[in-house]
Amino acid sequence: MSAIDDLPPLREVIARHGLAPKKTLGQNFLFDLNLTSRIARASGPLDGVTVVEVGPGPGGLTRALLAGGAARVVAIERDQRCLPALAEIAARYPGRLTVIEGDALATDIRPHLGDGPARIVANLPYNVATPLLTGWLSVEPWPPWFQSLTLMFQKEVAQRIVAPPGSDAYGRLGVLAGWRTEAKIAFDVGAGAFVPPPKVTSSVVHLVPRAEPLPASLKALERVTAAAFGQRRKMIRQSLKGLGRDAAELIAAAGLAPTARAETLSIADFCALARLVAA
Ligand code: SAM
Repeated sequence: MSAIDDLPPLREVIARHGLAPKKTLGQNFLFDLNLTSRIARASGPLDGVTVVEVGPGPGGLTRALLAGGAARVVAIERDQRCLPALAEIAARYPGRLTVIEGDALATDIRPHLGDGPARIVANLPYNVATPLLTGWLSVEPWPPWFQSLTLMFQKEVAQRIVAPPGSDAYGRLGVLAGWRTEAKIAFDVGAGAFVPPPKVTSSVVHLVPRAEPLPASLKALERVTAAAFGQRRKMIRQSLKGLGRDAAELIAAAGLAPTARAETLSIADFCALARLVAA
């Protein structure tokens, strides 16, 4: 029995089901149910909320979400070996846990959700964490179907997500995340909390969608940031040449200095460029 429920401790679950962690699946498990409860709490009060969890594994975070009051958890897991352990949790919380076996990158989870509020909470597999996030940030229409995202990343990726203009970590990911959401690092998690421990520190990031991001088309914004940050040390009069428009005219129309570099432009500057490119 554990501190948050009457299910067996995770170490025992893993031993009984033979869940030796696989590196290829980004399996760094959390055994500490106090820590998984802290991650669940970072997403806010869970009453009445359906939580989408990617990669429940042996179910440490899943248990914290259910014990924390989530109305339902819809979890998508690629590793078949985890399904019997997850079935035990589903039996403990009848009707509240749905497990989908599959690849989160290739599965549309929305048909499995009800009409109520939904949030995404996950200790993400690091090998697919960034594509999953950019997929959620690229949902159309916006505001999206989820109220928030509470996600574990390698600290270096977390810093890129919340990076302000002018910082070394500022780039395409920071512009996309900052344009569509308010993103902040909730707390760091040391490598020793995971089994096996990864090489780096991790961070939990909490992102709340903006109701009205600055006007810009996602496609045009991506084109502009790809061009600008593709040559981040060059002045934008050079780096924006590949956009198929007169770079000098674009820059003047956006009211920017031709000698500026990508990392000094604000999100509003990028949106202005994107509107001009799309016009
Ligand atoms: N949630 C568990 C925890 O906190 O201990 C496990 C987290 S572990 C970092 C990542 C989990 O994602 C693993 O269970 C792994 O099998 C699963 N996974 C890896 N790639 C996946 C994918 N493409 N789609 C769904 N799950 C995936």
